[in-house]
Amino acid sequence: MATDRTRLAYLDALGIDVFALRDTPMPAPETAAVDERHERHTDTPSPEPLDWSSLRQAVASCVRCPLHAGRTQTVFGVGSQTADWMIIGEAPGAEEDRRGEPFVGRAGKLLDEMLRAVGLTRDNVFIANILKCRPPNNRDPAVAEAEACRSHLDRQIELVNPRLILAVGRIAAQQLLHSDEPVGRLRGRVHTLNKPEIPVVVTYHPAYLLRTPTQKREAWKDLCLARRVIGAHAA
Ligand code: URA
Repeated sequence: MATDRTRLAYLDALGIDVFALRDTPMPAPETAAVDERHERHTDTPSPEPLDWSSLRQAVASCVRCPLHAGRTQTVFGVGSQTADWMIIGEAPGAEEDRRGEPFVGRAGKLLDEMLRAVGLTRDNVFIANILKCRPPNNRDPAVAEAEACRSHLDRQIELVNPRLILAVGRIAAQQLLHSDEPVGRLRGRVHTLNKPEIPVVVTYHPAYLLRTPTQKREAWKDLCLARRVIGAHAA
């Protein structure tokens, strides 16, 4: 875990110039409210219990939706298979499609800084996306594409069994939680995914934060909430 001074330096690098909240006593996280929309989703049959290697193979050869035709390669996800934190983004962009790794562009660099601010690296979290293939022209994932890809993600979640999921951005949050609420309303509270039961915290997508740096302070609050949830769920 980074020291407070190190964390301050990281936050400074993020361009967050007022840190009042960090020194303010944090309220206890809201009790994990069950998201009814997600409960509806978990009534669907469980995906096949693939192990890591079969899952990786299934993703690499997936042709469940038309996106497979335009991909250079699938972007499975990276990080620790036993991570406490799982980060879920939207879909690969051009650079991710080329390199086969999530969040490798400018937004990825900012995500790395956000993780470092709470003492994490991409090696000790697991980073995945709602979609494993790049949508053309970086358009939003279609609902049908997200649904086609969902069992891959669900199995990744089951295998990692993280103590917390951080959903970054509107698409990730809405798809994961089966919600149509704006990201600004999904932030600031703790959702729960079932089977396995995992707390979910929502924050802004780093690409949005690059465009709207004034919201970095809000993202920092989300990271603080996530860290408190992890603390509250410590064994
Ligand atoms: N944005 C995402 O949501 N995921 C990536 O992998 C890259 C950019």
